[in-house]
Formats: sequence, C-alpha cells, structure tokens
Amino acid sequence: MSSGTSVDVKHARRRRLRATAKVRARRVETALDKVRVRAAQALTPDPDGMLARRVAVEDAEREVRELDATGRVFTRRDTGARIRTRDTLAAGELAPDADTSDRYEVECLTHHSDPLFFGDAGAAARAAKESDVWCGGCRQLAQVPHSVRARVRKGLTPPAS
Ligand SMILES: [Zn+2]
Repeated sequence: MSSGTSVDVKHARRRRLRATAKVRARRVETALDKVRVRAAQALTPDPDGMLARRVAVEDAEREVRELDATGRVFTRRDTGARIRTRDTLAAGELAPDADTSDRYEVECLTHHSDPLFFGDAGAAARAAKESDVWCGGCRQLAQVPHSVRARVRKGLTPPAS
C-alpha cells in the first residue's frame, strides 16, 4: 500500500515544482513590471485613485509579511477568484537554514494553478493581486467584460466556454 516510494515521488514532484516555479516567478515579476508600467501610462492622472491603489498594495504587502503557516486568501474583487499566499518557512516546510528565495507560495485556488514561489513578500503580494498575469483561468476571466462576469456570478447566465 503506501510505501516510502510514494513519499519520495511526492518530494521529487515538490522539488521539481519549486524549481520550475522559481523560473516562472522571475518571469512573472518581469511581466508584472511591464503591466505596471503600461497601467501607469494608460492612467489619466487621478491622485485619489493612485493613492487608493498604493494604499491597497501596501496593505497587501503588510498582510503577506504577517503571514502565518496557513497563509491568507485574497478574493479578487473584479473576478471573485481566490488566491492563496503562504509563508512556507512559517509552515515549517523549509528548514530554518534553507534557501529562502522561494519562501512565499502563491497559488490560485479557483483554478488550481501550479504554485509560484517568491523570496520577497511584496512580490508575492503583487503577484496575488495580479493573478491574471500568471494564471490562465484568471486571464480568461479578466478578459470577460465586467457586466458579463457580474451576470455569471449571480448565476443568470452560464459561463462562456
Ligand atoms: Zn486563477
């Protein structure tokens, strides 16, 4: 039945996930930077909106810094997707002297995405808020017009496939 082999396989899978996730995380950070630059260029100067956005990002970053083992779930207000951010060091999944460059785990619970790992709490928080950059399901949701999303969420129309 359950042998050491399945545990080894699980650990190997976890290691592989972490290794590929690190590369993806770096790509996501680059993509996020581009998205932010584009968003900043597209915005007409709206001091209130900019301030509100900055406060929201700061709040998210503080929340991630205060993460405990169980992590925190953000629900995206625009799409309703739920993104979990976890501190794997606090969860005891990393040895205290381990490389912490993949300490923070971010995954989309709604679409069961492969997790991403970040060494920086702020980067993890930003990735959680902009899951459409790295989660295919979130990207599709983000492309659906808001009015359609609202109707789908109320169950008035089935989601387009
Ligand atoms: Zn998603």
